[in-house]
Amino acid sequence: MQTYPDVKLFINGEWRDAIGGETIEVTDPATDEVIGKIAHARKADLDLALQAADKGFKIWRDTAPFDRSKIMRKAADILRERADAIAFLMTREQGKPLAQSKMEIMGAADTIDWFAEEARRTYGQIIPARFSGVAQMTIKQPVGPVAAFTPWNFPINQIVRKLSAAVATGCSIIVKAPEETPASPAELIRAFADAGIPAGVIGLVYGIPAEVSEYLIPHPVIRKISFTGSTPVGKHLAALAGKHMKRATMELGGHAPVMVFNDADLDKAIEISAMSKFRNAGQVCVSPTRFLVQDGIADKFLDGFVKAAEAIKVGNGLEADTVMGPLANERRIPAMEALIQDAVSNGGELKTGGKRIGNKGNFFEPTVLANVPTTAKIMNDEPFGPIAIINRFSTYEDAITEANRLPFGLASYAFTGSVKTAHALGREVEAGMLTINHNGLALPEVPFGGMKDSGYGTEGGSEAVAAYLETKYVTQMN
Ligand code: NAD
Repeated sequence: MQTYPDVKLFINGEWRDAIGGETIEVTDPATDEVIGKIAHARKADLDLALQAADKGFKIWRDTAPFDRSKIMRKAADILRERADAIAFLMTREQGKPLAQSKMEIMGAADTIDWFAEEARRTYGQIIPARFSGVAQMTIKQPVGPVAAFTPWNFPINQIVRKLSAAVATGCSIIVKAPEETPASPAELIRAFADAGIPAGVIGLVYGIPAEVSEYLIPHPVIRKISFTGSTPVGKHLAALAGKHMKRATMELGGHAPVMVFNDADLDKAIEISAMSKFRNAGQVCVSPTRFLVQDGIADKFLDGFVKAAEAIKVGNGLEADTVMGPLANERRIPAMEALIQDAVSNGGELKTGGKRIGNKGNFFEPTVLANVPTTAKIMNDEPFGPIAIINRFSTYEDAITEANRLPFGLASYAFTGSVKTAHALGREVEAGMLTINHNGLALPEVPFGGMKDSGYGTEGGSEAVAAYLETKYVTQMN
């Protein structure tokens, strides 16, 4: 039987305890059992990580993209070889079913490969000059050491997008990984270390998130910030980055609308929506949340969705037939209960679920609320849990108005048989991502990011590489 390890900091190519010897406990969200501990970094550890990142950057920026790419691809292969063992760690610390953990790890390997290839093509330009004998060109250079802050819902996926883009472009990076789910991220970084990445290029720390970010973001060594998490924290960190003129990518909260029109393929809409709503117990920034269903099919959709929710097997992610694991954090159970209670007291109808399951582990019933008024908190705040809201609409204009009502703009979904409707949605929905008649988000080669309060910058596609590069203009005369 595989065991859960104690997790150390990774600084200057070495796995090490914190200088002060402090640790933080890790709990299994399915059993409430303390399963391990992690080294808790303070300023002295962060200073070592910063020195290493500065040194690592100077080595790595001068390493040819061709050679960087080879090391990255080797790391991806190591990750694939170790996927089963790492999936076990992820499920124990985060709760998601083993199959979902493994899928996340295999997806991370693909992400590394994609960035390893894409960053070999960071071409500059030759710009025609006005005078003979003058050369004008742009060159792309890595922005410098990066500080990345990532959450616990996708312990590896949230890191690998930032890490791959940084490392592929020649930056060094300090990752402040999630304290709740630390061991699988450490294995991601071990894959790079074992693939031969030079000391200092990647650092890994854990600590008190605010303490680490307040120290790293203003520090002169750090040139770019990348954060994934809630909108309030993102606004705070973006302000800090702005104050110190640091580049920033912010991937923040969402409240995804799902518009289901009368002409949609109803069975497909129910199947895809229920699967993506309850994946990872709804703890997903692009999770579908506000289902807006047109009058003609609203009753049938609600009925089918409730049946799909009730069929979900909730349990320990290590058990083979589990479809939905526990919530990753105990604090999210009272948060779910309060949102549901508030929705009902505002006139919403609880159609299924609504309660914690048992009194051990953070298990919560897949929940469906219907006809919830916009005065309810859950219609405005991201639930980040296994709750679907199914409301109805009459006209296309009603659907768009409700979809765009909130300050968030991350993911959005629609189901329609009309090309005209699909085309109009593409123009009018205020969201960074829109997926119509399928779930096509989050591939490494396509943009992943939001607009409005959901943040700025993208973590996929060619623009994700550009975010880690400076464009320098050089001109010379013969
Ligand atoms: P939270 O706001 O306390 O923390 C969210 C994340 O931000 C965590 O990973 C945390 O470690 C980090 N964080 C918090 N303060 C920080 C700081 N000052 N500096 C650096 N990092 C900091 O919320 P939570 O209870 O952990 O999660 C619930 C909420 O967080 C959800 O409602 C959701 O909106 C958001 N969240 C979003 C994502 C995402 O993928 N976008 C992931 C996890 C959580």
